[in-house]
Amino acid sequence: MPLAELSGQVRARELLYNMISRNRVPQTLLFAGPEGVGKNLAARLFAQALSCRELQDGDACGHCPACIQIERGLYPDLLTVAAEKQQIKLDQVAEIQEFISYAPLVGERRIVIIEDAHKLNQYAANALLKTLEEPSSAVLFILLSHRHSLLPPTILSRCLLISFISLKPAVVVEILQRLEADTEKGADAIAGIDAAAAWSGGSMGRALFFLESENLLWFSDFIGRFSRLPQSTLAQALDLAETAAEFDEREVLFFILRSFLHDTLLAKHGLEGAGEGDMHISTPAWREAVRLFAGLPEIEIRSIRQRLLEVEKAQAVNVNMKLAFEALFTAIVTVSDRI
Ligand SMILES: [Zn+2]
Repeated sequence: MPLAELSGQVRARELLYNMISRNRVPQTLLFAGPEGVGKNLAARLFAQALSCRELQDGDACGHCPACIQIERGLYPDLLTVAAEKQQIKLDQVAEIQEFISYAPLVGERRIVIIEDAHKLNQYAANALLKTLEEPSSAVLFILLSHRHSLLPPTILSRCLLISFISLKPAVVVEILQRLEADTEKGADAIAGIDAAAAWSGGSMGRALFFLESENLLWFSDFIGRFSRLPQSTLAQALDLAETAAEFDEREVLFFILRSFLHDTLLAKHGLEGAGEGDMHISTPAWREAVRLFAGLPEIEIRSIRQRLLEVEKAQAVNVNMKLAFEALFTAIVTVSDRI
């Protein structure tokens, strides 16, 4: 699969093409941007384009041994490193150092892809920095991150940053249609594509999640209940908190809640009709829920958003999520008592 098939990332693709055609590839690239928008895929496609033996119009052919081995994760000059238990550790950087200490076996360079590079722990980051400080034309590092601001500035300053953007809903629809065509699913799955794209917020990972109709139903119900919290009883708030705490896909849950408050603030300023790309999600039921919640004063919505961010941060240190959601949701119920 050539680089040309990287959807929705025109700018990034152009920059990568440029490097290939001028044969000027920096030693360290950082693909930065939201989750699920094609950074990982782009890294592999770029590795293919750099290693392909039968380039076609400056792009990977997709069928030579190098292209096929990279697609299958078997190419001897490519090493991919991913976090283990939420961290990239020193011994993994040692593995990288050993890997690049040998000359390329078949290609012109050895390529190292580091997924979620912001998960490098302090020791690993220091060790990697030393490696990056010793330039070699036979090595290419591609760091991937959706939180690159967490990387040490010393590492950032060594990288050429390539920005990846959220995918437009139409692009998500197009990719989903292509995937569905391959899997021969029924008409129900096809019908769910538009809804999944609408709820994805431009991430393929979330789009696939919302393609499962039970996930879509769960969130439609959840957001409906959340939007009615200001008119709800404390018992209903506690019930919703339990529902939220028991839900496993926390990243999606927090994304949806953050998006809901973001869109509510837009609605508060009368900007919700300003067209695609402004509201994170834009289905009729979502807009109705947003309008309902926008009845609260702006200062309260901002304070709820702030509390939500704190709950999100707290989950990383294993607080009791049920208590955290209970505190947040009951505070929304009692807003009307304060105003
Ligand atoms: Zn090829």
